[in-house]
Amino acid sequence: MVSSIYFFGAGRADGDATMKALLGGKGAGLAEMSRLGVPVPPGFTLTTEVCTAFYAGGGALPDGVEEELREAIGRVEKIVGGGFGSTTAPLLVSVRSGARASMPGMMDTILNLGLNDAIVAGLAERTGNERFALDAYRRFILTYAGVVLGVEREQFEEALVTARRKAATALKIDHSRLNNAELERKVPDSALDPEALRGLIARQKEIVLAATGKSFPDDPWAQLEGAIHAVFGSWNNQRAKVYRKMHGIPESWGTACTVQAMVFGNMGDDSGTGVAFTRDPSTGERRFFGEWLPNAQGEDVVAGVRTPHPLSKGGSDDERSLEVRMPQAFAQLMEVQARLEHHFRDMQDMEFTIQEGSLYLLQTRNGKRTGRAAVRIAVEMVKEKLITQNEAVLRVDPGSIDQLLHPSLDPSAPKEILARGLPASPGAATGEIVFTADEAERRAAQGKAVILVRAETSPEDIHGMKAARGILTARGGMTSHAAVVARGMGKSCVAGCSSVSVGRDIVTVSLYDDDGRPTGSKSLKAGDVITLDGGSGRVYLGAIPTVPAALSGEFGELMAWADGVRRMRVRANADTPHDARTARNFGAEGVGLCRTEHMFFDEKRIEAMREMILAGDKHARHRAVDKLLPYQRDDFTGVFREMAGLPVTIRLLDPPLHEFLPQEKAQLEQMAQVLGVSVAEIVRKNEELHEFNPMLGHRGCRLAVTYPEIYEMQVRAILEAACDVAAEGVDVHPEIMIPLTMTQRELTLMRELVDRIAEQVFSEKGRKVSFHFGTMIELPRAAIRAGEIAEHAEFFSFGTNDLTQTTLGISRDDAGKFLGAYVDLGIFPSDPFQSIDVDGVGALVELASERGRAKRPGIHLGVCGEHGGDPASVTFFEKVGLDYVSCSPFRVPIARLAAAQAALNAGTHGGPKATD
Ligand code: ADP
Ligand code: MG
Ligand code: MG
Repeated sequence: MVSSIYFFGAGRADGDATMKALLGGKGAGLAEMSRLGVPVPPGFTLTTEVCTAFYAGGGALPDGVEEELREAIGRVEKIVGGGFGSTTAPLLVSVRSGARASMPGMMDTILNLGLNDAIVAGLAERTGNERFALDAYRRFILTYAGVVLGVEREQFEEALVTARRKAATALKIDHSRLNNAELERKVPDSALDPEALRGLIARQKEIVLAATGKSFPDDPWAQLEGAIHAVFGSWNNQRAKVYRKMHGIPESWGTACTVQAMVFGNMGDDSGTGVAFTRDPSTGERRFFGEWLPNAQGEDVVAGVRTPHPLSKGGSDDERSLEVRMPQAFAQLMEVQARLEHHFRDMQDMEFTIQEGSLYLLQTRNGKRTGRAAVRIAVEMVKEKLITQNEAVLRVDPGSIDQLLHPSLDPSAPKEILARGLPASPGAATGEIVFTADEAERRAAQGKAVILVRAETSPEDIHGMKAARGILTARGGMTSHAAVVARGMGKSCVAGCSSVSVGRDIVTVSLYDDDGRPTGSKSLKAGDVITLDGGSGRVYLGAIPTVPAALSGEFGELMAWADGVRRMRVRANADTPHDARTARNFGAEGVGLCRTEHMFFDEKRIEAMREMILAGDKHARHRAVDKLLPYQRDDFTGVFREMAGLPVTIRLLDPPLHEFLPQEKAQLEQMAQVLGVSVAEIVRKNEELHEFNPMLGHRGCRLAVTYPEIYEMQVRAILEAACDVAAEGVDVHPEIMIPLTMTQRELTLMRELVDRIAEQVFSEKGRKVSFHFGTMIELPRAAIRAGEIAEHAEFFSFGTNDLTQTTLGISRDDAGKFLGAYVDLGIFPSDPFQSIDVDGVGALVELASERGRAKRPGIHLGVCGEHGGDPASVTFFEKVGLDYVSCSPFRVPIARLAAAQAALNAGTHGGPKATD
């Protein structure tokens, strides 16, 4: 039988870094560190397979695991020279969760396991530190009661407050007016003496007995079994589920469970614990960076209750830096971090504990980082010859560079600074203050931009953090929960903003002048607007304008490497010259979709458009349409100039005509007056145009089948504009695209129309420009009959928005009510309007591509739906071998990077590029 347990310790390990699927990230990292000779307390990992078997067995450990467990504990005992359950040399362990993908803080971990009253006495004797032994026990009971026995935390909080008040009285501190937070500051955990701790422990046990009807378990083996059950069980707690859904982590993976000998950072002033990064996770700068707390256990840093100190010197808190306080341990940590980064060839995020001067590493993993940091780290590591350019391209999550492409605060805008905190996660965010995660979710669902303001966040707040634009916390450092999670989500976060005090429904901000003298305070309530700058840690009052992102430097270098390996072209959906310019700045290689209807909503133009709609006969229609021609021609001229040398695909009018008519009374009257018709006539026209299901109604090329004048005008405008700019010397490549085609015959008619107008225009202008003619494929019938359709079409552009709607028979606008449930229940792996439904819609894309190519070898194929900017969909389009994807201008760099990664993963890089 395969082993259920993998051991590590004393410079050896059964597992290694490649075994994340089996040992979880944490277990694999500990095994690898142990092999490298990095100081790691010994322990062992129960595999994710045991977790899966645990669930399959209805919540019981599989046969044989218990024997392996006893044997493994025996090996740990040998290495540390203690005994599990021994009163003379007690071995305590932590029981830690850890899945294949890191899910920080989402699952449970229990520290200091293996204690009862007798063992505590033994531990006190052996360490000569009774306070420490009792503190370890009361912490253990607290977590164990919550995590394993399911006792509500609240009563324990009360017990702790009572203990603090007693201690305060003993210390002769007047505590009658102190609130709980102030009390904690005056009487920290370290001020609780043995007697206070003993009282607290007794009270905790009473709470457990009252809540569960059973005494707190004294048998270390029973404790261990309970903890392992709870850790496996925590895979399915609510917050872990939410996190998995957000990050696309499969439910089936399960968590591993690591049991490890404890080391103690809370044994006095020569002990401590901290978190370190080999590079700055916020900016990517190559500097060792982190935080620590003296005389503390690991959980204290993450909890954010005490404000941690820096590791290195060089700031305002040098006196309390680890470098100054424990130079030897610091030097050793520096050596270890350099070794780990070099070994893993990526930025590491490490947990460490120092027990009486000796350093131990407790975790290492590839650190989470902002998009900005990801780009900088990848590029710098190439320069340091740590990784290759292709590796760098694969390192950066395309979704994460979104942050770089968005605006930051306008430096010249007037701003009123409210407060300064830590720059925990960059980006500018403006929104209304909300105080709870639930409220954040509620307001965001109503379309409001909100900033979640909390004293500190905990994993229970995750849904609110997801819904908020930004997060502001009063407490906690750069590695607090809020900071880590916000960086992972790419959200703006200012943490540890200590001048802010957060009440139930009010924030009070203490104000200071430039010299730091207090000048008063300001109160804000829910709904007040603030702006965060997560890059500088500043908080401002009100909304502040923003400026566009800078795309040069490291970002430019990485994108150049990506462009060097991708096969597919990337175009943009751009309707105006302005959008076309933005797109080109972002690296678009053409316009994949220029929608013409947007051009008609302008005040002047809509009049002519309405006149056309109301026209009673062909002549009146012609007259109205002719008024539109110059406007339309100007639009195309502008786009062609911006896209000189690159293809521009223009889609002829697509939406149903009623969209252009007003519905409200005042507007109806105005229109009647302008056009000199009666209101009644417009109302009648509105009724005539009314459709039960406009999405499937009189739209797309169906408009031109009945009223060819519109398309005739549009084709004329396109080709006249093309001739005009060609005369200026602009290299112009128009592509005329017919929407909503379903049969060959439709396209025959459209082709005749286009050729007829082209001949007229070219003879009038005395010059010819070459252009392409093609169609959208956005109806299942068109995909199926793609062979015939390709007889006329020189290109297909897959309109995957409509193709998804028509293939699934789901209207995107009406899907909100049930699509969430479809994703929750696994009917769809993800929202098919965001990420292409590979099996259904994708299969049609593939089929149409094959049939199109069979009829017309070399037919040009692209995508212009939302999916063109979605990395997962881009991977699929590379597989089908499309020539290009087209997406909104801001997503062009994301698509370029995604296309490069898709090519590297499919092995299609390095060959010739797709034709443009
Ligand atoms: P998480 O995944 O939430 O970080 P961990 O399992 O890493 O949970 O543990 C929580 C905290 O407890 C961390 O700070 C970790 O360093 C600390 N810790 C875990 N095991 C031990 C141990 N054996 N000795 C000392 N501290 C530990
Ligand atoms: Mg950890
Ligand atoms: Mg469409």
